[in-house]
Amino acid sequence: MLILDGKIASAAVKAELLKENQSLKAAGKRTPHLAAILVGNSGASETYVASKVKNCEETGFDSSLIRFDDQVTESELLSKIKELNLNPTIDGILVQLPLPKHIDDEKIIEAIDPNKDVDGFHPMNIGRMVQGLDTFIPATPYGVLLMLEYFNIPTKGKHAVVVGRSNIVGRPMSILLSSEHPQGNAHVTLCHRHTPKAALDLIVKQADILVVAVGIPEFIKADIIKPGAVIIDVGITRVPDETAKKGFRIKGDVTYEEVSKVASAITPVPGGVGLMTIAGLLKNTMKAYKGHYYHN
Ligand code: NAP
Repeated sequence: MLILDGKIASAAVKAELLKENQSLKAAGKRTPHLAAILVGNSGASETYVASKVKNCEETGFDSSLIRFDDQVTESELLSKIKELNLNPTIDGILVQLPLPKHIDDEKIIEAIDPNKDVDGFHPMNIGRMVQGLDTFIPATPYGVLLMLEYFNIPTKGKHAVVVGRSNIVGRPMSILLSSEHPQGNAHVTLCHRHTPKAALDLIVKQADILVVAVGIPEFIKADIIKPGAVIIDVGITRVPDETAKKGFRIKGDVTYEEVSKVASAITPVPGGVGLMTIAGLLKNTMKAYKGHYYHN
């Protein structure tokens, strides 16, 4: 059984990016700059953004962390995004989600210049992805593709099952796995909340590649896994645990111990897709630096 170790795969991606940034510096050029906007002080969002900024530093990118308290108004956020859009030294902009309820996520995402949308959430970029055009692929599905590529997991002609249909993970993942490219060409079934449990079990049982992104700890059990399947567990949930130092443990959507006995390959949580998401984000930031592909 192969552990799809995000540390190893993301280190390979980051090493290439570091080399590119070192060459830029050696040539006296500026390096790509990622601006991250963080609203409020939710523990999980803080951790994710801190990790993105730290990875930028380690890989030779410039980064700025822009903080707002959770009382920030939508128009304040929009005017910051406008300022970042117009700043030629900022290549990538990300807004850490979720935002407070009084702010319309979609309005904020649509305000980001599609050329700087390194999370790949802008409808323009999603549309381009659906059509197989050059674009910023949403960072998490992109990270999964990079993981499949690194470990040489074949996808062509396989049955890929994606559980979860969010705009940032499940739905783009299902489109990408079915698209024409080296980590695509699978036939894909997408399941969601309205997939009856009995049907879900039958479908998952047929998966050669299973991607789970529902946010329910240990939702997928070993008895519905096809022997030899490749398991990509996107889920990250903080489960309270008094015995843990931080008071919680991170759990994936798959029962790792059991499922790893049946699968041929599996991503650990933590240490799997989360690290690849950052690799995807950094690759997108380099892409944004290198040139705008879309012009108004
Ligand atoms: P989300 O927006 O809450 O979407 C969850 C999806 O799961 C929805 O499409 C929902 O269906 C579906 N679902 C819920 N209950 C289900 C059930 N009983 N059976 C089948 N489908 C069900 O979450 P998300 O943003 O996609 O994130 C999913 C998980 O991935 C979370 O744990 C999140 O923390 C994690 N995540 C990890 C990374 C990473 O870098 N590793 C990145 C992003 C997210 P409906 O659409 O019908 O409601």
